[in-house]
Amino acid sequence: MNERLVANIDEKNCIGCTICIDSCPFDAIIGAQNFSHRVNQLECPGCKICVSKCPTDCIEIIKINQNKDEIKEKIKFNFQRRKIRKKNLEKFQKENITNQLNKILKS
Ligand code: SF4
Ligand code: SF4
Repeated sequence: MNERLVANIDEKNCIGCTICIDSCPFDAIIGAQNFSHRVNQLECPGCKICVSKCPTDCIEIIKINQNKDEIKEKIKFNFQRRKIRKKNLEKFQKENITNQLNKILKS
């Protein structure tokens, strides 16, 4: 076991804005709009990106005891999954805009 850094959300001050979910490159934050969020610490490599994004300043970085090797594969997988999801979403949005434009131009 060794010490590593992870994010931790003070749930009582979380307003459920989802900004942290959108900013996390590792898909390590769980929550729904208007409900308090939490960090899945087994999947958080402690990159700190979410900390400065939170409008209520309720995310802090803490130390936990965990072997880094245990989380490496999961973190790599989540990072790739998020990249693919973002790419697909952008493609879908582009196609959707093109379809909408075509409909308007044809009408
Ligand atoms: S510290 Fe990085 S990986 Fe962890 S929850 Fe925040 S943005 Fe995600
Ligand atoms: S950015 Fe902060 S307030 Fe917004 S959902 Fe995340 S932890 Fe909660």
